[in-house]
Amino acid sequence: MKCPFCGYDDSKVLDTRPTDEGYTIRRRRECLKCQKRFTTYEKIEKSPVMVIKKDGNRQAFDREKIIRGMIKSCEKRPVSADEIEEAVNNIEKKIENSMRREITSLEVGEMVMDELKDLDEVSYVRFASVYREFKDLQSFVDELENFVKKKN
Ligand SMILES: [Zn+2]
Repeated sequence: MKCPFCGYDDSKVLDTRPTDEGYTIRRRRECLKCQKRFTTYEKIEKSPVMVIKKDGNRQAFDREKIIRGMIKSCEKRPVSADEIEEAVNNIEKKIENSMRREITSLEVGEMVMDELKDLDEVSYVRFASVYREFKDLQSFVDELENFVKKKN
């Protein structure tokens, strides 16, 4: 990001905030050479948010996986597919608004629990019981499947 005053190409970021519902970010910068301040607007490319698993590996945020996990915890409960969809939309929006490119699988699990708490208590308890043991989203979904099978 070149300084518009002196053309120097290094600046420090003083402030970052999203505009246009998160699709553009506004950064207040200060030129490292002449110390003048300027504002830049950057379009956010929709690259996937990375989820850091417990073992430290990273995986692209996978909305389908979360939906599968939620469907499993809501099995035979009065929760509609639309409600699950909406809950996952809320989670995605929260991550988007946080402007973070990486999030831990633990945080994702907590967001899912927050949503389930509002939807249905039984589904929430199912999710929470499995969640305590969970290592990553995939093994989590597997464990949840076993858990629901055992209870039926
Ligand atoms: Zn400058």
